[in-house]
Amino acid sequence: MFTYDVAIIGAGAGGLNTAMEAISMGKKVVLVDKYKPGGECTWAGCIPSKALIQLADEIHAAKKYANIEVDGKQIMSKVRQLIEKAHQAEAVEQLQAAGIEYIQGDAKINDQHSIRVAHETITAEKIVIATGSRALIPSIKGINQVNYLTNENVFQLEDLPNNLIVVGGGPIGVELTQAFQRLGVQVKLVEMADRILFREEKGLAQQLQGTLEEEGVQLYTSAKALEVKQANCTTTLTIDRNDVLEHIEAEQILFALGRKPNIKKIGLDDLGIRYTNKGIEVNEYNETSVRNIYAVGDVVGPYLFSHMAGFQAKQAMRHAFLEMHTPIEQHPAWCTFTHPELARTGMTENEAREKFQDKFNVYTVSYSELDRAVVDQKTTGEAKIICDQDGFIIGASILGERACELLGELQLMKTFHIPFHKLKDTIHPYPSYSEILTQLSNAAVE
Ligand SMILES: Cc1cc2nc3c(=O)[nH]c(=O)nc-3n(C[C@H](O)[C@H](O)[C@H](O)COP(=O)(O)OP(=O)(O)OC[C@H]3O[C@@H](n4cnc5c(N)ncnc54)[C@H](O)[C@@H]3O)c2cc1C
Repeated sequence: MFTYDVAIIGAGAGGLNTAMEAISMGKKVVLVDKYKPGGECTWAGCIPSKALIQLADEIHAAKKYANIEVDGKQIMSKVRQLIEKAHQAEAVEQLQAAGIEYIQGDAKINDQHSIRVAHETITAEKIVIATGSRALIPSIKGINQVNYLTNENVFQLEDLPNNLIVVGGGPIGVELTQAFQRLGVQVKLVEMADRILFREEKGLAQQLQGTLEEEGVQLYTSAKALEVKQANCTTTLTIDRNDVLEHIEAEQILFALGRKPNIKKIGLDDLGIRYTNKGIEVNEYNETSVRNIYAVGDVVGPYLFSHMAGFQAKQAMRHAFLEMHTPIEQHPAWCTFTHPELARTGMTENEAREKFQDKFNVYTVSYSELDRAVVDQKTTGEAKIICDQDGFIIGASILGERACELLGELQLMKTFHIPFHKLKDTIHPYPSYSEILTQLSNAAVE
């Protein structure tokens, strides 16, 4: 009756994962995007930022031993080459080879079982909205009269600026701040809260903040951006810090202040699909308020990460086609890819205190207690594990070398409800960073 089993709007992490999940179930899939497949993650998010961070890390390490001159043009061109390389895995030909039909165009939902792309109507049993999000631009004085950077154009810069103001001390702002600073750009980081990464474990975010300052980042915390001006290749940002106005200057300004869901002009109102300014409302299976229409990824939130978009895609397709009536249990995890990395799953200590008062246990080990970290000269950092009174992990934050990879083992234990003390009987190679986990679990209550 319908041409396709599923029609997906948006070919970013959410749409691509939905398509692959549906294909693995033997379904007929059409995927539509305005541009080439990949979305924010490939073209202006995870891939270019991680490429820039890696190049900056190599330069930072080399600078310890030699006077290095950074060729900004070469760096930015390398970032774009790496984007193209990563894109190959999801290029249209690859999608077609996997059995996915790809249409380039602007799509809109038509009714419960069809979408419109240009003048064509495409019918499908299920529809998935995966239209993503875009950078939030602050409505400060002067914003419409200046040129500014966001994640959408920063990776297209031909060369590195000499100096840069970054507004926003969340994960994106902090990652880019450190990368540019390490590449020789003088960065001034402006954050409204009294510290960077204010949602993360306080002590660990403060340690990371110390590292940024040691590397030369000029930090302006508790600072509200008020006005921006541009003249003679200089951008001036006026900030308010404790009722004192300051003017800070740089060649370029970059806003990393959070994201806005792409919910406009896709037909939500016509069909009565419920949404707020945070995104489309969905149930635990990612189905919207209209049956057969699902939404996944940044357009839903609240965790704006590619892997969370992937998880939601799985949830949606299993419900749509396998009629699953128990949602897959969700254990969100993420990492800020600074050096050192800050990885996290579950609660912070403060969140645990709010929920359990003092009825939980906290285990911490510093990286300076690890032989491997000592010989690598990577002793900044700490791992903190929070367990409930029955000994199960309810939160973990790791600041340190390879933190993101170390989180995997804890994430497995948390997801499959393995008591934390069990880890002490597992053998970890010496000298490895993973030994920090056995050290932590040695203290765990059985
Ligand atoms: C600088 C930066 C670094 C990041 N780093 C990480 C990281 O390290 N790890 C991580 O997990 N996440 C990271 N993220 C977040 C990650 O990029 C997003 O969570 C992810 O891209 C969301 O995927 P999505 O499919 O929901 O949306 P998107 O990737 O935004 O894809 C949406 C797609 O929909 C298309 N579209 C929109 N409207 C229409 C329409 N009407 N018709 C047709 N097509 C349409 C768009 O063209 C786009 O291709 C980062 C983000 C940024 C900005």
